Amino acid sequence: MNKIEHIGIAVKDIEASNLLFSKLLNTQPYKTEEVESEGVITSFFMVGDTKIELLQATKPESAIAKFIEKKGEGIHHIAFGVDDAAEEIKRLKIEGIEMIHEATKNGADNKSIAFAHPKSTNGVLIEVCSDIKQ
Ligand code: ZN
Repeated sequence: MNKIEHIGIAVKDIEASNLLFSKLLNTQPYKTEEVESEGVITSFFMVGDTKIELLQATKPESAIAKFIEKKGEGIHHIAFGVDDAAEEIKRLKIEGIEMIHEATKNGADNKSIAFAHPKSTNGVLIEVCSDIKQ
């Protein structure tokens, strides 16, 4: 894994949180993007060479809606940047880490992503992501 690519934060109201994080980080979100397949709207802030991703559910069955229902707003996942997310899935499985996704899928911000199951990673939802090769 190369670096912490971003930290994902589950929020109830992305407009209000965009304003809040703009003040907090003293920068505007560089992108807002809906990922319809995931039922989320996301926004991204650069912080040095890493990012904060805010996630708001767009439908009640979204993972973010369920997370907020159970735990409230807060840190949802930590994403590690890797060279090739598909290769990283193989490596993690060999290491005995349980993956939620056995294959990569397309996430926000032009990334190929997969999540490891928090029950095999000390309760922390871990995302691995690599740039989608054009
Ligand atoms: Zn993420």
